[in-house]
Amino acid sequence: MFKYTKSTLQLTRTVQRSALKMAQSRVLQCRMYASSNKEAPKKQRRSLVPLAILGIAALGLTYYNMGHVSKPPRASVDPVSRPKKDIESKEQPLFKDNEISVIYVLGGPGAGKGTQSAKLVKEYGFVHLSAGDLLRAEQNDASSKYGELIANYIKEGRIVPQEITVALLRKAIVNNYNQGKTKFLVDGFPRKMDQALAFENQIAHGKFVLFFQCPEDVMLHRLLERGKTSGRSDDNMETIRKRFHVFEETSMPVVDYFEKQGKVLKVSCDHPVDVVFGQVVAQLKKEGITD
Ligand code: ADP
Ligand code: AMP
Repeated sequence: MFKYTKSTLQLTRTVQRSALKMAQSRVLQCRMYASSNKEAPKKQRRSLVPLAILGIAALGLTYYNMGHVSKPPRASVDPVSRPKKDIESKEQPLFKDNEISVIYVLGGPGAGKGTQSAKLVKEYGFVHLSAGDLLRAEQNDASSKYGELIANYIKEGRIVPQEITVALLRKAIVNNYNQGKTKFLVDGFPRKMDQALAFENQIAHGKFVLFFQCPEDVMLHRLLERGKTSGRSDDNMETIRKRFHVFEETSMPVVDYFEKQGKVLKVSCDHPVDVVFGQVVAQLKKEGITD
């Protein structure tokens, strides 16, 4: 097949120019014969044939070039040269890194997160925000439209939808910040990747994860003991098993995510409360968080 090259354009122009020249000279001759009222000789009439051929060739080539030479349409904005955006990052966090410090407290159910957080509040003035406590308070708030939904999720040991949990945390952090508090222990959060990303994108970046490692049988024993007096709908064997499963399947990937960022401080919690606390303080001191 005939392929378009630069030379077809040159050829077109040459043919057009020749046709034009020939046409001009023929027009001149015709005018001469017209003014002298003589009929043009046969030879002159025959010499119009190459002119007609040239004209047709010029027209044909022009038409061909119109179809092949025209440049493809260009987008008004070139998508390749624009900086790429991270699809996960939709908003600026509400708090800058130098405005508040957030430490996430993670570990299996019954690992001792609440117990150790209470000690940090007492000794170092952190604000302790437990996602579970906030959800239980919301569940018990008669004016909340989410009460029943939260109760069902907790009873089943499932993760409450992130929109609810993140909104409760946001409100609690803002209230405390407006009272001059800037150091937060966010306990039992994030328990799922969607809430981790929502919090980090919308509220603040967590500085560290304080991660309590604990064997399952130890946690089971503690929870069953706690269940004797806690009155909680989820401190029973059936729900505890489900909570362990959710922790492994859904919450451990969050720990792994922060581990890759070098943000996980590990504490082994199968020891007396004060021994565990000694580890906690040592870890935080190492990072310059407590004096
Ligand atoms: P979490 O907040 O991780 O669910 P808690 O702090 O409520 O766990 O602890 C669960 C239960 O275990 C509580 O009854 C608590 O008193 C008890 N407990 C916590 N830490 C220890 C520990 N180091 N040794 C023995 N019992 C503990
Ligand atoms: P906890 O008080 O931490 O033992 O949590 C008790 C229950 O509250 C969990 O089993 C969940 O049903 C719910 N919950 C606690 N934290 C979260 C969270 N970060 N996201 C969603 N649901 C949560």
